[in-house]
Amino acid sequence: MRNTHFSSPSRSIPALAILPALLCLALPESFAATRDTRAEKPNIILILADDLGYADLGCQGSEDIRTPAIDRLAETGLRFTAAYITAPQCGPSRAGLMTGLNQARFGYYENHEQSGLPPRAIAPTMAEYLKGAGYTTGIVGKWHIGLEPEEPDKEPWPAAPWNRGFDYSLIHHGGSLFYFPFGRNYEQMLNVGRDPRMREVKEGSDEVNYRMFEKDAYLTDLFTDLAVSFIERNAEKPFFLYLSYTAPHTPLQAKAEDVAANDHIPEGPRRVFAGMMTALDRGVGRVREVLEDNGLAEDTLIVFLSDNGAPTSQNASLNDPFRGVKGRVLEGGIRVPFLVSWPARVPAGEVRAGPVGALDLLPTFTGVAGGKLSDHLAYPGRDLTAYWASEKCKPEPRPFVWKWRSMAAIRVGPWKLIDVQPGQWSLKGGSLNDNGLYNLVGDPRELRPRQREATKRADELRDILNIWERRHEQSLETETAVGARKRGSPQ
Ligand code: CA
Repeated sequence: MRNTHFSSPSRSIPALAILPALLCLALPESFAATRDTRAEKPNIILILADDLGYADLGCQGSEDIRTPAIDRLAETGLRFTAAYITAPQCGPSRAGLMTGLNQARFGYYENHEQSGLPPRAIAPTMAEYLKGAGYTTGIVGKWHIGLEPEEPDKEPWPAAPWNRGFDYSLIHHGGSLFYFPFGRNYEQMLNVGRDPRMREVKEGSDEVNYRMFEKDAYLTDLFTDLAVSFIERNAEKPFFLYLSYTAPHTPLQAKAEDVAANDHIPEGPRRVFAGMMTALDRGVGRVREVLEDNGLAEDTLIVFLSDNGAPTSQNASLNDPFRGVKGRVLEGGIRVPFLVSWPARVPAGEVRAGPVGALDLLPTFTGVAGGKLSDHLAYPGRDLTAYWASEKCKPEPRPFVWKWRSMAAIRVGPWKLIDVQPGQWSLKGGSLNDNGLYNLVGDPRELRPRQREATKRADELRDILNIWERRHEQSLETETAVGARKRGSPQ
């Protein structure tokens, strides 16, 4: 895999550190020799939680949030302790996740629901790659990276998932929805900007249906039902399912029995949040169950993560031990739970210290599917399969960068530099106080900033960040055209 994003100073990345990664290149082949036919194209399920904090899974150490089914992913697979998404907010994070490119490459900084992604010719989605590799692709849940164009008659919803590689879509397009969306007055729902209707496009169809469901349907369970149906319909062939729950994003609404099941927690928002997590966990359990019922559990790769850190004061989730919340580039806003289960290929019960990122998933999924990444783009992510197989195959040190609103941050090794410029959002969040150079090993809560202007280390990180920012100012269209010319490909 190429990595031309960072012509960083060599002093930042010791050359010797690259050697273990080179030795690891042979590992996937040795695994391939033992694989059966089905495992050559494993099913892939990406489960995304929404605003789930780092602390709130049993396997992450929570003592009050009970998630036995999600914990089982860690017991049968890997748990990462330093996994990052690309923005501390839903839309931009998902835009990065789906394209494998930092969303700053295409100026996606906000939750505009009509922003959309660059065209497929410029930046294919994960689903487009997997569909191209022979997978049946489906999304159930929250999309939130564009839907209708501003002038609907001119283009047929170019940003909708059914036009971005998904054979099956059952989505709502916004950032959140009531959890009992169909039991209230429809006009009231529209007045608060939350259209409860689900847009559905079935496999083999171009027709968009607006679906309503039972009045007492609970959103998390509904998404699980539809995900299970997708798996059952497609059990005989390789599939990719993007199961994008809204839980545990606000509003805090849970089923009465799920709240009651958490009466070990004092009455209040935290108990309702726990009830929402009970439904999310039940969903993951049901997905596992339908895989087992269909003999697919061994050869299905499941990745579970959250799209950003928790807004702790809003949804009562916790980012412990980290400081910072959704909307900030402290670890609490950007470091998320990240679990990988793939019994046929991934060891059970191991922990990886990473760091890894959401941008690694597109190249990893495309690799395990037997697909091929575009030659025209320099993807920053890595195929993680060798690292999944062995702790010894950790990817070479590389920068992780966040650029969101007026905030920027970069991590290289244990060092992290936060640079928040004065601006509307930074002042609102008080995050100017976050500025500084931190050593995450000795100071994971980012409480003791070094004097960043006075240290050589800070200057090195600043240099890499500046290169990154200049690189990301270049348009993707230019990169694609230049890449095509260099390789003699048609433009
Ligand atoms: Ca979110």
